[in-house]
Amino acid sequence: MSNANFNLGALIRPNVAKMIPYSSARDEFKEFHSDMIFLDANENPFETGLNRYPDPQQRKLKSIISKQKNIPIDQILLGNGSDEVLDLIFRAFCEPLKDNVITLPPTYEMYSVLANLNNIENREVLLDSDFQPDLNEISRSSDTNTKLLFICSPNNPTGNLISLEKILNLLGSFKGIVVIDEAYIDFTNEVSWITKLKEFPNLIITQTLSKAYGLAGIRLGICYASKEIISVLNKIKPPYNINELTQQSAIEQIQNILKIKKGITSSIEEKEGLLKALVQVSYIEKIYPSDANFILIKVDNAEKRYSQLLQNGIVVRNRSSQALCENTLRITIGTKSENEKLITTLKTLK
Ligand SMILES: *Cc1c(COP(=O)(O)O)cnc(C)c1O
Repeated sequence: MSNANFNLGALIRPNVAKMIPYSSARDEFKEFHSDMIFLDANENPFETGLNRYPDPQQRKLKSIISKQKNIPIDQILLGNGSDEVLDLIFRAFCEPLKDNVITLPPTYEMYSVLANLNNIENREVLLDSDFQPDLNEISRSSDTNTKLLFICSPNNPTGNLISLEKILNLLGSFKGIVVIDEAYIDFTNEVSWITKLKEFPNLIITQTLSKAYGLAGIRLGICYASKEIISVLNKIKPPYNINELTQQSAIEQIQNILKIKKGITSSIEEKEGLLKALVQVSYIEKIYPSDANFILIKVDNAEKRYSQLLQNGIVVRNRSSQALCENTLRITIGTKSENEKLITTLKTLK
């Protein structure tokens, strides 16, 4: 099934392939000794706890992630949120006004924002009525300038996992790079596509600490790929893209696996409860199955229900403007008491 014709060199933008990366002062030596005197980076010498530049390669944090995910450090890149990782992927592989990418709406809107920002054509191939990719249409829409295909699984805003067979098929047939966004993978029982990296040199996986890990505020996204792809992304990333406070709190928090697991379990239990309650609300016409920490529902009038909830102090996301999502609201699973308030409010709306 592996993609035998894959040629990474041919996909990299020529200017990126040629460029010499910025070499920061802290890139030039690998060993930190406490008795060394650092007069190389024009930092302030007086201790504030944060007067030094952070490690540009985030070695300590990556070594923890490497052990947890059982993947070599040179197959990991960290970003200022996965949004930065996605932007780096565009900039590494897509030549403005020449190349194109394929996205599968309804899906995460940042792919199209980043395509616009980078002046890259976005070829949208709608998901089918089960919110699964249309393989024939993807193949018809691809040409020699199609560099990236974005698959979000579980998908935002629909909440469903994308079929394993369909992704396997795409990994084997798509000529560019397949990016699988696993922002919600920790809420599912599925194994991550990280386990398939050895088989597929054309695969990039992104994950984030913003959802299941409860750390949206620190902005940390993680990218996994072949070491060749990671080295291209490493070359173009801003030298100090992960600040010191983020590195420190990530190191502290991600080792607390028990706490993270508890949060995930509670979110899933709350979701089950919410699903049972939503069925009893008369104007909810459809509840889409969810493998994430949110539920997409179809209502009689999304605009009206959205405003009514807002008047009651509850903010949800109206997704009606997205393809195939007319009159839908996306509701994040909250705490037990938040969910109870939501249910009570939904039941009283006229
Ligand atoms: C929330 C979300 C992200 C997270 O992005 P960060 O920049 O890491 O916070 C990425 N992809 C999808 C599909 C999301 O829903």
